[in-house]
Amino acid sequence: MKAAIFDGSPTLRLTDLPIQEPGPDEVLIRIDSATICGTDQHILEGKFWAKPPVVLGHEFAGYVERVGERVRNCEPGDLVSVEPHVYCGCCKPCRLGKPHLCLDRLAWGINLNGGFEQYATVRMDTVYQVPEGLGPEEAALGEITGCCMHGIDRVGVELGDLVVILGGGAAGLILARLAELRGAARIVISEPNAARREQIRAFGYPDVVDPLNEDLAARIDALTDGLGADVVIEAAGRAETAAQAVELVCHGGRVLFFGVAAPGTMAAIEPNRIFAREITVVGSIRNPYTHHRVMEILPRLRLKDIVTHRFPLENIAEAFDAAHRGEGLKICIKPNG
Ligand SMILES: [Zn+2]
Ligand SMILES: [Zn+2]
Repeated sequence: MKAAIFDGSPTLRLTDLPIQEPGPDEVLIRIDSATICGTDQHILEGKFWAKPPVVLGHEFAGYVERVGERVRNCEPGDLVSVEPHVYCGCCKPCRLGKPHLCLDRLAWGINLNGGFEQYATVRMDTVYQVPEGLGPEEAALGEITGCCMHGIDRVGVELGDLVVILGGGAAGLILARLAELRGAARIVISEPNAARREQIRAFGYPDVVDPLNEDLAARIDALTDGLGADVVIEAAGRAETAAQAVELVCHGGRVLFFGVAAPGTMAAIEPNRIFAREITVVGSIRNPYTHHRVMEILPRLRLKDIVTHRFPLENIAEAFDAAHRGEGLKICIKPNG
């Protein structure tokens, strides 16, 4: 089968790999859709760890091809979504009920062969049935949607909140959808990319700000009588937006650091502001205990149009170039055409 291997260099290498037959507790999946995550780009740029040689792609879905003898949650032909993490169960975070912070975790697409190949062999406990009516591309968004759900859980959006999202990429839009379902009264999205601002409006969010040419703080002040936003979500992974998040939030408000800033990035934040306004700042990483809930809620999230570009596996370099240029929202690899 064809696969795109990360060998430590900044471009993926197309190669042939043998299909790995499933063990007793494993499922062989014919991959239909695997979407590119910002983390994949960071891996190629050397800013995020992965273990070469490995097939990248941790957001994927496909059809069950064969199952091991003990597998009981799916059968050949089923459309399934994969939650790509495997936790050790033995480290301190695992034993305190925070497995996503596991010190010895494995993940398909990071240190186990992931979705940018024609067939993947995964453990049955990472395989989830996809609700009827959803296609494989939406199913592939299960992981990123779970990360967004965990973030929204952590920051605790409440009925009536004004929520500001800094960064209107795919994650920003999914965060907006979830905040809306949690009862946010108003959602303001800040996004410097003009094409993306159009897409955000098309998704039903008219309050879109161009932070390079508009005064976002003045806009939030005007909407809140100068009080600030109830919740600010940093979803761009940048020092400027990290600092801005703390400046835009109201007294008693909550800030979520969701975007992946490169390690070592520093931001200028005024501690007195966090103290005097009793601001709660939380981070969120990965998607603990969300994939089941994500499969339940996905049909209501209307995410279909988030996938804007599709490429066959042979053109994966082109797909990453498009992602690098910030084109579209989600770029999907179709390993089996
Ligand atoms: Zn990701
Ligand atoms: Zn662990």
